[in-house]
Amino acid sequence: MNVLMLYPEFPETFWSLKHALRFVRKRAVIPPLGLLTVAAMLPQQWNKRLVDLNIRSLSNADLAWAELVMISGMVVQRESAKALIARCKSAGVTVVAGGPLFTSEYEYFDLVDHFVLGEAELSLPPFLADWQQGKAQRFYRARGFADVHTTPVPLWELADLRYYACTGIQFSRGCPFDCDFCNVTAMFGRRPRTKTAAQVRAELEALHRNGWRGSIFFVDDNLIGNKRELKRDLLPVLAQWQKDRGPYTFNTQVSINLADDPQLMTAMTEVGFDTVFIGIETPDNSSLAECSKSQNRNRNLVADVQRLHNAGLQVQGGFIVGFDSDQPGIFQRQIDFIQKSGIMTAMVGRLQAIPGTRLYDRMKEAHRLVGSATGDNVDGTSNIIPSMDAQELRQGYQTILKTIYSPRQYYRRLRIFLKEYHAPPVRTPLTLGRVLAGILATWRLGFLSKERFYYWKMLLWTSLHRPRHLPLAIQLVICGYHYRRISELLIPGGMTQ
Ligand code: SF4
Repeated sequence: MNVLMLYPEFPETFWSLKHALRFVRKRAVIPPLGLLTVAAMLPQQWNKRLVDLNIRSLSNADLAWAELVMISGMVVQRESAKALIARCKSAGVTVVAGGPLFTSEYEYFDLVDHFVLGEAELSLPPFLADWQQGKAQRFYRARGFADVHTTPVPLWELADLRYYACTGIQFSRGCPFDCDFCNVTAMFGRRPRTKTAAQVRAELEALHRNGWRGSIFFVDDNLIGNKRELKRDLLPVLAQWQKDRGPYTFNTQVSINLADDPQLMTAMTEVGFDTVFIGIETPDNSSLAECSKSQNRNRNLVADVQRLHNAGLQVQGGFIVGFDSDQPGIFQRQIDFIQKSGIMTAMVGRLQAIPGTRLYDRMKEAHRLVGSATGDNVDGTSNIIPSMDAQELRQGYQTILKTIYSPRQYYRRLRIFLKEYHAPPVRTPLTLGRVLAGILATWRLGFLSKERFYYWKMLLWTSLHRPRHLPLAIQLVICGYHYRRISELLIPGGMTQ
């Protein structure tokens, strides 16, 4: 049996980093971890091939080879997925679909032959058993939550890792918190399930064996959801890993309460973590109460971010506008917060209601839903009828992007960040690729771009005051260029300087 694992293309979004990837000569941010894990669950004797549309196009020869297509993706990949499925079906190939997009929206995909929904450890085996007996049904749904101790090592050998900027690994699923707009708890539960130390070690070894030497993203929605097991199982493995195979750097997603635990922050940086994404959402306490983000309430969030920066963990932040509690002043408050905190990667979105969340149910009951959520956090759209005047909300949202990604404010923020940030003990090695990216950035942004004045000022200041941070500063400038290009797509009249 020839199985083609198919991953749809990402549109140009905030997280696609398409404009930044050109500087490092990569084609995509991260390989499809879920699909490669599913590939490892298929019968060993089946032939498997991966086509990630973010790396290369799908050829007629691929389709002629395939006897079965397995497709997965996220909501933001919806349009590409639809086109791919139509193409597979017109080539006469059976399509099996699973993953977040299909689990939440299967009713919009009439052409799919079989759906394997929810966690694959539970829904895939019954499908495979029926398929091999020639009696596969259309729907297979996971009931309950999978035992992640049964999750196999992803088949990394299917992916051409040379084309990715980073790669992924998962330690836990689930989150103990219950933010009402988030579908993580609906999908994975509130009791984090963690893999064993041996599983993590085996996954790291597989990455190393397949030639990976770059940064690794722990895709967990909240890596510190189960601190006890993180400290007991994961951190010792990573410490040993650094000794045996390092240096590797890691990034992940956590909740803000990491800032309350200085020992854990230190332990994380010692094993190689250097970046954490945190859903900060809003500096407004009543909006935090509205969305049940209790862990962020009544705190000095700027001081929390500074503590993380001091510890050597760069914070990337998620921000949301469009809560019912938001007052017109929220836009300036968000700008002030982002600027003051020194968060360089600020993902600012409008509140969207994702099926399966409490917010979705609440908005549905109030007849405030319009269409579907796009799954793109930074496209300025929402499927919620806001309580604030729609025009005011749209303009306020655009003002935030226009301000925080303008060269003046972005470079000003970079200086704040560099002043606060203490270099972690494990650092990304300075490879030839990074040096070339720096040269290209200097050419593109230092000579050809309108931001050249700010670029040279940054280069001079960082060389004088924070020389060790120069590679990181250039990397952030490259990312800022991408964020600016994405913001420009949303702002009529373009960005300010
Ligand atoms: S802390 Fe993050 S992952 Fe957990 S429920 Fe809230 S938004 Fe979701």
